[in-house]
Amino acid sequence: MLSPPAGHKMSMTGQKTHFEITRFGFPGGHVVAITCATFLVAILSVTPAASQLDLRAFSEKESERTLMVQTQLKGFGRTTISDSSVLKAMLKVPRHYFVPDSQKPYAYQDSPLPIGFGQTISQPYIVALMTQALELTSGMSVLEVGTGSGYQAAILGEITRSVYTIEVIRQLYETASKRLRDLGYNSMVVRQGDGYYGLPELGPFDRIIVTCAALHVPPPLFEQLKPGGKMVIPVGGSFETQRLLLVTKDERGGRTSKTLELVSFVPLIRGAP
Ligand code: SAH
Repeated sequence: MLSPPAGHKMSMTGQKTHFEITRFGFPGGHVVAITCATFLVAILSVTPAASQLDLRAFSEKESERTLMVQTQLKGFGRTTISDSSVLKAMLKVPRHYFVPDSQKPYAYQDSPLPIGFGQTISQPYIVALMTQALELTSGMSVLEVGTGSGYQAAILGEITRSVYTIEVIRQLYETASKRLRDLGYNSMVVRQGDGYYGLPELGPFDRIIVTCAALHVPPPLFEQLKPGGKMVIPVGGSFETQRLLLVTKDERGGRTSKTLELVSFVPLIRGAP
């Protein structure tokens, strides 16, 4: 089943249709306008190039995604991924679309993959585990530090429309923001910069997810978490096993943290180039 990603439909067809209708002011103009608008909608829905949306990606490799979800998101030593919104997102988002051509044959394997500039797209299980730990629901705002390929952001974008993501490496930022737009994640805010400082002008956030390892929980990120908010972050050095932490901010601003898993992430790089 091919269904458009969250948020694409209204902005591509709905708003455009409305715009065309309101432009006609003469008597009987609304009939012409509706005809034109219907024609426009018809063109947009049959010509993918006209909208620049690449919805075909969502219908490709469905069986590989199903196998990935059935075999990798549970098992010995793993936390079972049972959150239905996470499972639905993992089934839908075309992971092969987020990796370089040379890595496409391996896109649904149980491993992280290189995405250039010494960076990696995380293993599917880790993406699902971190997303499940966030307990994210529709309508919440979520900040991701480390956009990378944009895959984790797309998974978040299937659950809520308020996704903010920041990437320090300019080329990765440019590729990921175009990719996310082409897949129809139009409401997502993608920025380039040092995510250690978060996005204070756009916070506070209900949830924060950091996809690179920090030496400590960055105080600006904890600050940008709403009371009752949750953050998932790997903490530790680059050449050692890190702890994947679930950090919670209580209603009075106090902090508790719990180790979810031992992990190995690329390091958080300080200072935007
Ligand atoms: N979430 C990504 C995984 C990316 S790997 C995905 O789904 O593909 C971690 C990413 O964090 C890399 O792209 C790296 O460049 C980025 N990163 C490292 N330090 C950062 C910082 N200070 N601010 C923002 N991004 C950072």
